[in-house]
Amino acid sequence: MVRCGESQLPMAKRSTPKKQQANSQSSRRYKAFQNKARKRLLNTTSLSKCPKCKEDKLAHTACPTCGTYKGRSVIDKDKEVEKITKVKA
Ligand SMILES: [Zn+2]
Repeated sequence: MVRCGESQLPMAKRSTPKKQQANSQSSRRYKAFQNKARKRLLNTTSLSKCPKCKEDKLAHTACPTCGTYKGRSVIDKDKEVEKITKVKA
């Protein structure tokens, strides 16, 4: 079965590199790729203000300072959470 877009040539018929590539050329290409990726990922986290306490929080998450999400309390901040040291079977 041959899927369209797939190369029909066997591995032996592919062209071979004529010259060895210099390390600087490879690293230059990699650095260009890195810069591109860095620019793309820069400022991707979107912070929003909590409507209750006006603190910065991650968008679409519960506020870590007051524990509310969309006006209702999700995390009980007054309740003390004990550390889980053992798991009961
Ligand atoms: Zn808040």
